[in-house]
Amino acid sequence: MELHLYDTRARQKRKFLPLEEGKVGMYHCGPTVYQRPHIGNYRAFLFADLLRRVFEVLGYEVKQIMNLTDVGHLLADAEEGEDKLEAQARKDNVDPWQIVEQVSELFFADLSALGIQLAHAYPRATEYIDEMVEMIEVLVEKGHAYKVGSNVYFDVHSFDKYGELSGNNIAELEAGARLEINDEKRHPADFALWKTDEKHLMKWDTVFGDNGFPGWHIECSAMSRQFLGDHFDIHTGGEDNVFPHHECEIAQSECAHGGKFVNYWMHTKFLQVDGGKMSKSLANVYSLDDLGDRGFCALDFRFLMMRGHYRSSLNFTFKGLQGAAEARKNLCSFIKRLQSVAGDTSSTAIEFDPLNTARQDFIAALCDDLNTSAAIAAVFTLRSEFMKGDFTADQAAATLDFMLNTVQKVFGDLDYIQCTDDEISDSDVDDLIAQRTQARADKEWAKADEVRDQLTAAGIVVEDTADGIKWHRA
Ligand code: AMP
Ligand code: ZN
Repeated sequence: MELHLYDTRARQKRKFLPLEEGKVGMYHCGPTVYQRPHIGNYRAFLFADLLRRVFEVLGYEVKQIMNLTDVGHLLADAEEGEDKLEAQARKDNVDPWQIVEQVSELFFADLSALGIQLAHAYPRATEYIDEMVEMIEVLVEKGHAYKVGSNVYFDVHSFDKYGELSGNNIAELEAGARLEINDEKRHPADFALWKTDEKHLMKWDTVFGDNGFPGWHIECSAMSRQFLGDHFDIHTGGEDNVFPHHECEIAQSECAHGGKFVNYWMHTKFLQVDGGKMSKSLANVYSLDDLGDRGFCALDFRFLMMRGHYRSSLNFTFKGLQGAAEARKNLCSFIKRLQSVAGDTSSTAIEFDPLNTARQDFIAALCDDLNTSAAIAAVFTLRSEFMKGDFTADQAAATLDFMLNTVQKVFGDLDYIQCTDDEISDSDVDDLIAQRTQARADKEWAKADEVRDQLTAAGIVVEDTADGIKWHRA
């Protein structure tokens, strides 16, 4: 099936054509490791993970790189001002490198809790300073960049495609009041490739002079080139990365090597909270632990993100998270029921209508620019069919195979039990079994099914034996 992806630069969905048959290289702008990433950042990283998983389900060999920004990202994504890492280091009165270590550790623990597959590399900007310097020197040689003392700037007028990604135009940018006044620059819209500041804590002595540090944009141009080459398939980030970050990356990379940089640019819309921006002053910047404190696990959050389309704004609420947790739980109990109906049957080659339809709709939805909500709907339709009854052990085994090896491959592990440490008590199990027996006696089949689902979701296996009903924990 053909895969279509929305390309920000083309402003439309485009058929995906890899640079190399069967392979895809992608680079994602990762976290600035000055504070533990919040759930908004994880929306962007879960999207990157989803993209990789979809490619893998479609049979592609993926090379996935995500950077860690540990220097050069200035407050408010601005051209002037304090470095985010250094501001944090000064505030906490610690070494910036210590913050990098602590935050990276939290980041990797969060990735694991979210069931995000590790990328093939997580390069840190500070480890690629030589590659950045080399690229800046090429830009100076080719006349796209200029030195003023020990600072180096990119000349935006030297690249006629500047603005193509974001839709900005240089004249308007220069007329805009938001650009910082900097007398050194030839044009107000020029941006820094290398800066010098004696007071900077993380600094390097290079051909440009002493006490320098890189601009944020050159980092991703240099690191992506290092791992994926001059020209690669996909680059992603959150919508705020479109301008200036990615616009500037395109200018640097295309001018440095004289050809195309990236074939598809993909951007995740922001996760909002309470209908607005997450902000410290509103105390609505949530971490995964904050969700845990309210009784939700990281996989509930993951499923919530998958229920919405990555290009639609999403408003985070605890009510929405509750809904996602319940939906995920329903899918878990569906898997458990399939396991119990399939028993020892492992034949998966069998085909039948509800499963064929689900498979087709699931993949078609994902191939339509990763329409995850439609893909999830296809799975719930299959579940409803199954709940009507009459599935054979073979059919259950084939459906189980689809759930475990396709659905979970895309959406990650759905296992509800893994997330909860509240074990149901023996007397609650006995109560539920009594309710189920009563519902059966009253021929209330839907109610009986519902109770059985509750039991399977809680990890309870119920067996009807000659000696009456027996149960044990799975
Ligand atoms: P940062 O740590 O600020 O460099 O951001 C890391 C990634 O998270 C970038 O790709 C951002 O675009 C993305 N991001 C930041 N805030 C949000 C949000 N509220 N929703 C979605 N993505 C976000
Ligand atoms: Zn970046």
